[in-house]
Order: sequence, then structure tokens, then C-alpha cells
Amino acid sequence: MIEVVDITRTYRIGESSVNALNGVSLKIGQGEFVAIMGASGSGKSSLMHILGLLDVPDTGEYRLMGKKVSGMSEDELAAIRNNVAGFVFQQFHLLTRMSTIDNVMLPCIYSGERGEFRKAALERLDMVGLGQRSGHRPNQMSGGEQQRVAIARALIRDPMIIFADEPTGNLDTKNSHEIMRILTELHEKGKTIIMVTHEQEIAEYAGRIITMKDGRILDDRRKPSAAKQAELPPGELAVAASTLFQPTRMFGFFVQAFQSILSNKIRTLLSVLGILVGVASVIAMMALGTGAKAAMEEQLKSMGSNLLSIRGGSARIGGAAQGSGTVTRFTEKDAEAISELTPLVRRVSGDVTGLGQLVSMDRNWSSSVEGVDYDYGQMRAATPTIGRWFTRQEIQGREKVAILGTTVVTKLFGNLNPVDRVVKINRINFRVIGVAPAKGFSGPRDQDDVVLIPVTTGMYRVLGKNYLDGIFVEVSSAANIEPAKSAIDALIRKRHKVLPSNEDSFNIRDMTQFQQMLSSTTQTMSMLLGSIAAISLVVGGIGIMNIMLVSVTERTKEIGLRKAIGARKADIMLQFLIESVGMTLTGGIIGVLVGVGVSVILSTFAGWAVKTSAFSVVLATSFSVLIGLFFGLWPAQKAAGLKPVEALRYE
Ligand code: ADP
Ligand code: MG
Repeated sequence: MIEVVDITRTYRIGESSVNALNGVSLKIGQGEFVAIMGASGSGKSSLMHILGLLDVPDTGEYRLMGKKVSGMSEDELAAIRNNVAGFVFQQFHLLTRMSTIDNVMLPCIYSGERGEFRKAALERLDMVGLGQRSGHRPNQMSGGEQQRVAIARALIRDPMIIFADEPTGNLDTKNSHEIMRILTELHEKGKTIIMVTHEQEIAEYAGRIITMKDGRILDDRRKPSAAKQAELPPGELAVAASTLFQPTRMFGFFVQAFQSILSNKIRTLLSVLGILVGVASVIAMMALGTGAKAAMEEQLKSMGSNLLSIRGGSARIGGAAQGSGTVTRFTEKDAEAISELTPLVRRVSGDVTGLGQLVSMDRNWSSSVEGVDYDYGQMRAATPTIGRWFTRQEIQGREKVAILGTTVVTKLFGNLNPVDRVVKINRINFRVIGVAPAKGFSGPRDQDDVVLIPVTTGMYRVLGKNYLDGIFVEVSSAANIEPAKSAIDALIRKRHKVLPSNEDSFNIRDMTQFQQMLSSTTQTMSMLLGSIAAISLVVGGIGIMNIMLVSVTERTKEIGLRKAIGARKADIMLQFLIESVGMTLTGGIIGVLVGVGVSVILSTFAGWAVKTSAFSVVLATSFSVLIGLFFGLWPAQKAAGLKPVEALRYE
């Protein structure tokens, strides 16, 4: 069944090299019980590793059931190990995170077969007399019991050959004989057993004893009692070079990855913290950003689009007017002249403002009174939702009608509908004809604390001015703003005979500048927050990578064992990737919750405008998955690239 011809194996450590095997030729038949003996360092383990396909010879040929296995790929060898071989090691190599029965079932997840393996695992545990201990952890058992679990694990896939490297090396005499009794039973049931030992007493259980020295076979002796075994017909090797992803296998990996994550709760939590902070800030940032944008758009709408505001005087710096020009006062004629600047200008409204003392029955309130023209309602989105806007006749006739802002309504009328009621403005009776739509705050100023009256009424009856304080102009399109500005500038200079050098006489403010400033401020803020989020995601990712590398090093033996029982490169890789993605995803999900929580707190307590979007949640979550994949890849590759023998040997 097994045939090796003239195999050699040389280990290189730096400059020096050790010839562990110097031309070994050997045939082992179906159903034989072979003990390999020899002094320490004679090459027993090296030979067994090659026979068990854990290692490959440098030269020589190996035939397993007539099939040449030297030259096969690592993954093909792994599949053969899983199907044909069972391993029992001196150090047991059980995974302490899992229960006994899970340890026994472990080779099944690499078999690519579906099914329920618990029953089979329990049967194997019964075989070694540990059926009652299936739920225990390996570290709750004695050495002898652990080795019996390892034997049960070696049997789960019904292998033809059992490889045992010093299976009794760590056990006392009583337990040693118990293990040997089990192995003898298995041999009697037809299993081929290849066992390495350096104890004569243990070797005597075998039917054939091979003695090695310095990498060569010194002696090969069959006991007369041992029947010559029949050779199996060649070509019966069931090589299941099975497909990569099998549903049961995936599920098994998920469970195991989460077991390993949970076995290091504090460490996982700490390493996940970076991702958590990153994701939380992404969520909060986007909530703040969209909230600010929505609030801004609301404000811009109330401001009116393509709006110019012409005021007398200049911008003041430090409270003192710069320069010494006279302040221009505008008249209704100016407004008319500007409105004739078609097609640049669409609508014009002059306005006057002042303070007004308001009285309604027993309540009084002081507010700003604004005299506005007919088009103002359309230009500045001030057309009432309750009641109506002024008529042209009312404006021409200096009628005493008023439209109240919502704050004024609340102060003077509480919950009552103010329409058609009377309010005194600076002792003059006005009839309320409407309530202006709420606009909210612009900075510290409450834009709803205002009373609108016809501009003529404001000038001549209430505020006692014969001039306008300013003129609002709606330009026909955004592209016309600059030409309109210069046309209006020229017009006013001409009408008021202002010298070009005098820049302080009046100014034309462009609301789009204000809009741009607002949007660039919010943009800067989101970029700042975004970069903080990005940095913490990267830092978090590096943290995850670090932990995964530590984890790979810590679990080198585990990886070695998994490979020995048939895990292929992709399997190991998948396991570690699932682990790192599991960590980042956990961090991501907690981060989403924290981020949403922070947004809610900000909006309720600080009164900030926030808006959590499903998009940001999806974005942050998928980003955390990507980070897990990206930063988990290297450690996973490192783990997958380990050689089974070296990994098992790792201390
Ligand atoms: P045994 O199992 O009989 O004690 P081994 O097969 O383990 O012997 O080792 C045979 C020789 O090869 C020893 O001299 C040992 O030091 C050397 N050797 C085994 N494995 C390695 C390795 N991975 N790297 C370097 N030398 C090794
Ligand atoms: Mg050895």
C-alpha cells in the first residue's frame, strides 16, 4: 500500500545542513502494524512526516496505493490526508477553545462533505471510552484521556492508515498501555498503523519493527506471529480534491471564527475600538453634514434666490466707517429705475425698517417693523400661508394692514388666529391680514420676530422717513448676477452723482456669496470630520492587522494541526479572514449604533440639525468589512503559507 524508494530529506539551517534521511526504501502492506524505532535524532519523525504526506522528500519516489504522490500540490496532499490518514501526536494537539466532541469533528469541516457529524463523533468517543466526556474541554482531562480524544479525532474520517508519532511519549505506563490496547484493537479491525516510538516495550505491540539510525534503516523485523497481509488492488485511492466552498464548511468556519473571537473578548474589544470610533464618526459626521445642509438649504430658500441687497453706507470695520463718503439714501424712484433694467432684473422691492411697539389688547411686544413692496412676498418667500399678501392698492394707498411673523403672533395672540384682529403699531391701529411663514433663526436673529407692512405706510405713517433704507433686487438668473451688479452700481452712481472713487457711499451685497460661504463652511467641516474618520479607520485597521498577526503566531500549532488533518491553504485563509472581518464588522455595527446615538444626542440636547441616512450606515458597514478584508489579508496569507510540519513543531 505504501512504497517509498530511496528517499532523502535534508534540513537546511542557514549555512549548515542536516541529512535526516539518507536513502530510505520501504514497503508497508495493507493492515500492517509497524513500529519505527531508533535513538533520538535518527530520523523517525522525518520519515513518518513524509509517509503521512505532511512533508515531501527532497529526492526519491513515494507511491501510495500505486499512485505517485511525490510532485502533488499542497492542496491535493491535504485532501489525501483528510481522506486517508489519521494522525496522533505526542503533544495531542487538541484545540482548547473547543469541546471534546468539536475537536473530534474537526477533520469533517475540511472534508467537503455535508451532514451531521455529531453521531459519528460520539461513536468514536465511545470507542475510546470517553462517550460521557463529549462536552468537556480538553484542559479538563488527563493526558491519557486527551490522547484518547486525539485517537477518536484520527478515526472520524475512517482513514485507512493511522500515523502515530510517539503517542505514549507524554504518558505514564498505565495510560501508555491503555493507548496501545486501543491501537492494537484498531489494528485487529484492519487499520494500517504506523507508529514511531523509542521504547522497546511499546514497539513490541507491533507486528513489524523497523529500526533506524542516522537516517537509514538498520533493521526490519517481522514477528512470526504477524500474518503476511494481502496487498490492496492499486488505484483505489479516493482523492477528494473537492471544491472550495461547501455550505457546511463555510458555516463551520463561521462558528469557529466567532469562537476564537469570543475566546479573547477584551483583546477583541480593544482592537475593535479603532474601527468603532471610525465608523461612529463617519455616521455622526454624515448625519451632521446632511443636517447642516438641509438647514442651510431651508435658510437659503427663505433668503430668496439670485437676490441682491442694496444698502446705503459701507461695510464697517471695527465699528468705524472706512472713508468719509456721504451715505446714500435711496428713493422709490431709484427702485423704479432699477426695475427698468430688464432683462437683467426680474423684481425689485424697496424696504424701510425700524423698531415698532406693538400692542394688542392687554399684551405688548416690541419688534422690528419692515415696510416692503408688492414683490417682496414672492422674492423672499414671505407670502403668508394663513391669510394673504398685500394688494397693490393697499401699498399705493398707504393702508394700515400688517402681516405678522410667527414669533410676534405667539407673543401677542398666543394660540389665537390673529387674522382680522387689530394690533397697534406705535399707537396706530393696523388690521392683521396674514401670518408670514416661519423662517427660523439666522445666526442669533429671530427672523420670525417681525411685522411686515406696506412700504409706503412704513415710510410716511409709522417710521417717518421719506427715503428707503435699502432695495432688494431679484436678478433674472444666476449668470446675470455680476452684470446686474455693475449695471445697478453704474445706475446709482449716475442718479446720485457718486464719484467712482467713493466706495463707501453704498454697497450691493450678493446673497449668493453668502450661500457659497455657507456651503464652503459646511464642506470644510465635513472634510475635517471625514479625515478624522478616515484616519481612525486606518489606525483601527492596523490595530486589527497587528492583533491578527499576533493571533497567527500564537496559533501556529493550531494551524499546523488543521493542515495535518486536511485543511488546505484556502481553508486557513478563509478562517482568518472571517475572523478579521468578523472583528471589523462587529466594530462597525457597534460604531453605527454609537454614531446614531451621538447624532440623536446632538440633535436633542445641542439642538444641532442632524439627519442619519441609511446610506451612511450602509457605507460605514461595508467599509468596515473592506477594512477587515484588506488588513486581514496579510496575516491570513501568512497563516495559510505555513508548512504543516514546521507549524506543528513551533514552540
Ligand atoms: P527523531 O524523530 O528520530 O528524533 P527527527 O526525524 O525528528 O528524529 O530528526 C532527524 C534529524 O533532523 C535530527 O538531527 C534533527 O535535529 C533534524 N531535524 C528535524 N527536523 C528539523 C528541522 N525542521 N530543521 C532542522 N533540523 C531538523
Ligand atoms: Mg521525533
